[in-house]
Amino acid sequence: MPDLTDKAAQAYSGAYEKALKDVVLRYPALAKLPTTEAAGLLQSIDFDSLFRENYGMGKALEGLAVSLAKEIIVTPAPPILPSTQTISAALQFEVDAANAQITQTAAEIKKIMMRSILGNQSEAEFAASLTSEVLRPDQINSYVNQNLRSFHRTVELQMAEANPDQLYIWAGPLDDRTSDECVQMISEGALSQAEWQANYSAYLSSGTHYGCRHTLQMFVAPSQLKNTKEARTEKGVDY
Ligand SMILES: [Zn+2]
Repeated sequence: MPDLTDKAAQAYSGAYEKALKDVVLRYPALAKLPTTEAAGLLQSIDFDSLFRENYGMGKALEGLAVSLAKEIIVTPAPPILPSTQTISAALQFEVDAANAQITQTAAEIKKIMMRSILGNQSEAEFAASLTSEVLRPDQINSYVNQNLRSFHRTVELQMAEANPDQLYIWAGPLDDRTSDECVQMISEGALSQAEWQANYSAYLSSGTHYGCRHTLQMFVAPSQLKNTKEARTEKGVDY
C-alpha cells in the first residue's frame, strides 16, 4: 500500500519523467539549427526552473510538507512536540537536497544535449544518452523517498527523546519486503525509548537499510500492535 510519503515521491518523480520526455521532444528543433545558434539557445534555456516550475516538481515538494505533517502527528499527540520551526527546518534540508540533485541533472542534460547536437545525433540517440547518463525517474523516486523517510524517523526520534515516559513501537508495513531486522523490531511491540536505544540505536534514525519504510511511533492504542502479533507468529515466538 503506498502511503503519503510514497505518493509525494511519486508526484515528484512523475513530474521529472514528464520533463525528461519534453526535453527529448525539443531536441529535433534545436538540432536542426546552425550549431552556434543552437549552442546560444541551449545556454539560455533554464532547465532547472523549467523542471521545478513548469512540471510541478516544486508543487510536489510543497505537497510533501503537508503529507509529512499529517503522517508525523499521532493521536493523541505526545506531550512534548518539536516546534514547527524545527520540523520545517529539518524538512527544508531534504527539499534542498532534492533540488540540488535536479540542478545537477539539469546541467548534465544541457551538456549531453550540446554533445549530441555537435555529433549530429538523432532524437533516438539523444534519448538513449539521456536514459543512460542522467538519473532515471525511479532513482529520483527512491532518493526522495529515502530522504523523506529518514527525515520522518529523525523527527519521531526527537519526539521520543523529548517524551521518555511514553512507549514506542517500530511502525510500518509487514510484508515480503520487510527486512529481518525490521520484523524483529516490529515483534518487540511497545518498548520505552531507553530500551530502543539500548538495543537498536543504529537503526532508529537511519532505518535498517536503504529504503527502510519503518520508524519509531508513540504507542497510543492496542490496534498499533496488529503487526507485532503477526511478526511474532512469523518468527514462531510468543511473548
Ligand atoms: Zn524497515
